[in-house]
Amino acid sequence: MKRVAILGGGPAGAFTAERLARQGLNVVLMDEKLAWEKPCGGGLTYKAYSQYPFLIENPTPKRLVTETVLAAPDAGEVTLRLTDPLLIYSRLDLNRMLLNRAANAGAQIERTRVTGMERRGSGWQLRTPTGTVDADFCVVATGARNALRDVGTQLQPTDAMSALGYYIPGDQARIDIQFLPGLEGYIWVFPRCGHLSAGICGKREPATLLRRRLERYLDEHGIAWKGSTFYSHLLPSLDVKSWKRNRVAGDGWMAVGDAAGLVDPVTGEGLYYAIRSADLAAQTLLADSSPAEHAASYRKLLRRDFAADLEFGSRLAKRVFLGSFLLGSVPARMVQFTRRSPRFACIMQDLFAGRQPYLGLKRRLMQNLNGSLYDIAMSFGFSRIVPRAGNVST
Ligand SMILES: Cc1cc2nc3c(=O)[nH]c(=O)nc-3n(C[C@H](O)[C@H](O)[C@H](O)COP(=O)(O)OP(=O)(O)OC[C@H]3O[C@@H](n4cnc5c(N)ncnc54)[C@H](O)[C@@H]3O)c2cc1C
Repeated sequence: MKRVAILGGGPAGAFTAERLARQGLNVVLMDEKLAWEKPCGGGLTYKAYSQYPFLIENPTPKRLVTETVLAAPDAGEVTLRLTDPLLIYSRLDLNRMLLNRAANAGAQIERTRVTGMERRGSGWQLRTPTGTVDADFCVVATGARNALRDVGTQLQPTDAMSALGYYIPGDQARIDIQFLPGLEGYIWVFPRCGHLSAGICGKREPATLLRRRLERYLDEHGIAWKGSTFYSHLLPSLDVKSWKRNRVAGDGWMAVGDAAGLVDPVTGEGLYYAIRSADLAAQTLLADSSPAEHAASYRKLLRRDFAADLEFGSRLAKRVFLGSFLLGSVPARMVQFTRRSPRFACIMQDLFAGRQPYLGLKRRLMQNLNGSLYDIAMSFGFSRIVPRAGNVST
């Protein structure tokens, strides 16, 4: 491998560039904006910073938040004190830090837009507004709005959520998560250094309606959003069937992060998967295998590592937001169970930390159901009339 071109310098592209350059490969990274405030909450889970400690061990400004308030219609709210805090960055700061790391590792960083790519023998010729760049291999890291036609995920309307919000001057100690009636999505308010990132994501609902829902929520909660900077973007959220045909790699290229649709279809978490897929793409390129095997090896690594779990998550997404359980909505039950059952609250802790995969979640919930219901009964003061689950004698 002589020269690798990385198209896009968000977290996925920057981390691929760092990994490859550190191992001595000739790497050129091209991004039309370089470090910028990409529309995002900026939240990184424990799963991300425990696996990649440099994400937390650095002098870049960031917030560590332990208090999360979950709220749902007809259920009020519950406070969950996270045993493993959420780490929150401004994306300008996070992207800058990752690009600096890539440059320090030896990657050549160029501010330019890639407007096209053509196969030339076993390599590529990339077009930019000012000329051409030759490369032997391409890593496509152009995000959810990838305009390069023949590489990366082809997002259908049902494979994405609209996500929009405001950067609002202000501060609060906690994270707010609000579920809304009939919405396959949620509102979040994340405290960052110096401002709040308040946003909403939702599937199958026009952006104008989502924006109205968010503004109503902010008004009702006394958060002064008028005059704040508005943002909107696309959030990949692949449908069940789309995982099978997902175009993540081909002859001479691999896609990473949002350009490969690698986002949690329930929570919208994409930063971890951007970093992780970058790592797996770099491992594939650095492995002692022939270029012809790269695409298949990368697909296999992704599937084994997390893509099978995300695919399973896409089966659950609709039920999590719109389903019902014990005659109430799933979000309302989630809030009520978290409030009343320490066992259920533990599962929520693990979900927030990224420690509980979707594969295995149903089994864990069922195994804990008796205990959770027992906790709930006890919390209502039924201790004398409800026998301990599992100790019932017949
Ligand atoms: C509103 C919103 C909130 C979110 N909140 C969270 C959150 O709190 N936590 C979380 O984990 N995830 C969150 N996500 C998801 C997260 O933002 C993405 O998963 C993450 O940014 C993906 O990183 P990436 O590097 O793949 O793509 P991006 O960050 O989108 O980077 C792509 C880069 O490619 C560049 N580019 C694009 N096309 C070209 C081209 N043709 N030539 C050159 N450069 C190009 C762009 O300038 C950009 O810098 C959120 C997403 C949205 C929309």
